[in-house]
Amino acid sequence: MSDHRAADQSFVRETNIASILRYIHEQAPISRARLAALTGLNKSTVSSLVEELLARGLIHETGRGSSGQGRPATLLEINPAAGCILGVELGVDYVRAALVDLSGQILWRHSADSDPSHPQEQIIHQALELVEAGMSAANERSLPLLGLGAALPGMVDVQTGTLTFSPNLQWRDTSLGRIFHEHTGAPVFVDNDANAGAMGEHVFGLARQTRNFIFIVAGVGIGGGLFLNGDLYRGAGGYAGEIGHTHVSSDSSRLCRCGSRGCWENSGNQYALIERVRARLDVGRRSLIPRLCAEQNLPLGLNVIAQAAAQGDEEALSALHDTGEAIGQGIANLINIFNPELIVMGGAMIMVGEYLLPGILKAVKEKSLPDISQQAQIRLSGFGVEAVVIGAAALAVEAILSNPTAVAGANVTRVEAGRRARAL
Ligand SMILES: [Zn+2]
Repeated sequence: MSDHRAADQSFVRETNIASILRYIHEQAPISRARLAALTGLNKSTVSSLVEELLARGLIHETGRGSSGQGRPATLLEINPAAGCILGVELGVDYVRAALVDLSGQILWRHSADSDPSHPQEQIIHQALELVEAGMSAANERSLPLLGLGAALPGMVDVQTGTLTFSPNLQWRDTSLGRIFHEHTGAPVFVDNDANAGAMGEHVFGLARQTRNFIFIVAGVGIGGGLFLNGDLYRGAGGYAGEIGHTHVSSDSSRLCRCGSRGCWENSGNQYALIERVRARLDVGRRSLIPRLCAEQNLPLGLNVIAQAAAQGDEEALSALHDTGEAIGQGIANLINIFNPELIVMGGAMIMVGEYLLPGILKAVKEKSLPDISQQAQIRLSGFGVEAVVIGAAALAVEAILSNPTAVAGANVTRVEAGRRARAL
């Protein structure tokens, strides 16, 4: 056999094994016969590929299922003991980490507030402390760390793992991918928070079967992960999805952190919500909010606003409705441009998401073309405030699913370049 032909066959086998693993990930528990039907491969090929995945410890057999005819088939699923992934989210004012298995089950989680006015080294040190704790949690469970995914708040060069610019942190050219790799020795996958969130929904969440959707991360800023035609859309330079800096208003009074005025995120972010609440309190409207702040010694923020809204506080609900409309204006534009099947909301503002939705839906109905908006569902991420950190882990899981033969069973040292993200 020529070298070329051997290389071709090896490539075909790798592609097929990735396809089998992805079906097991998506549809477990699943039989070999069903895998053969889904992939179009013959049963003996499927059995051989399944044997390899079993030998690598990535999948295991789990009981038997009834197929309606003949003896029940042995079912396959992802092996929870194959290893774990550490997701790290660097927020503007918090750091968060979660250890998940290949199915997205959270095994360990931790978060801490951070202060964007603190020096960069201090905030990175906080993140590394969480990484350290996550690695200990993996060790305690005797699970190998298969990879680390990091979600960053700004523009990210995914090839080099560099945060090139974060308007909200005012950081430039920070090599976080390299720092995380040096600290863990694990393959590291880095992306911006919205792309990570989109990957989380694609791999584990609401968008598993959806080829066209947009993940919106709303908190201090508003970012978008554009998942189009079955893949993340990155644009010419990798920076697509800076939706928060599109302009929805002729109101140019607010200066955005990007240096421009009238950016969408300034009317729809958490500060805009807090300002709307404060404006109502300043003119003497009756509200539970001052008492809630005083009783719990909490600042006026999402937590208190969520509590007030849950108790039916009219001022909180009204400010949330207005903010929802401001968010909905931008979403209407996205729907008109991209015709998505699904918009998934995540980010810190998901804490008040259910109260934003009525305003969002109203603005979308008013401002997008009916034929297009009817095709778009708008939903809150099922992962709540953890959508982005789970998405960070999903960056690494996606790379493993795309290239499982690079994962050497329990003795993982390196995952080769994935389809969408690159191991550093
Ligand atoms: Zn801006």
